[in-house]
Amino acid sequence: MKLNPFFKEEVNRELGEHKILMCYQCGKCSSFCPLFNIEPEKFNPRRIIEMVNIGAEDVLKLDDIWRCTTCYECAENCPQKINFVELIVYLRTKATEKGYAPKLPLQELESVRKEGFSVPLSPRAKKWIETYMVEVKTRG
Ligand code: SF4
Ligand code: SF4
Repeated sequence: MKLNPFFKEEVNRELGEHKILMCYQCGKCSSFCPLFNIEPEKFNPRRIIEMVNIGAEDVLKLDDIWRCTTCYECAENCPQKINFVELIVYLRTKATEKGYAPKLPLQELESVRKEGFSVPLSPRAKKWIETYMVEVKTRG
């Protein structure tokens, strides 16, 4: 695993001096995380913070950072008051800037931007909405 000490500094600077560095790896975030409790081998917030704090920039390439549901259970139970959701949003933003974001969330964003829905609507669904509900405006 390639380590970049500047990455750790950058994240901590962006999110508030030493914020993430204050993590002492107690694992309480993981134990309160619903995803971790279902599939601990696939998603572990404590591990993500550990990767950031050792400068493992490859964390940006992991699918894991896209799994968090941003439910805030971890942040509400962290003894160090670390806001993991803030970190995950930051990591997703950085991953997108660097072109590491998986295709699906980007497609969903584009679909929301164009059509107002996260999945493209079929012509039949559009017709139904136009007839029975609201006007659907597309940006072409
Ligand atoms: S609960 Fe807080 S201090 Fe403990 S591992 Fe998670 S982020 Fe770090
Ligand atoms: S915000 Fe994300 S990491 Fe935290 S408990 Fe919820 S799903 Fe788990």
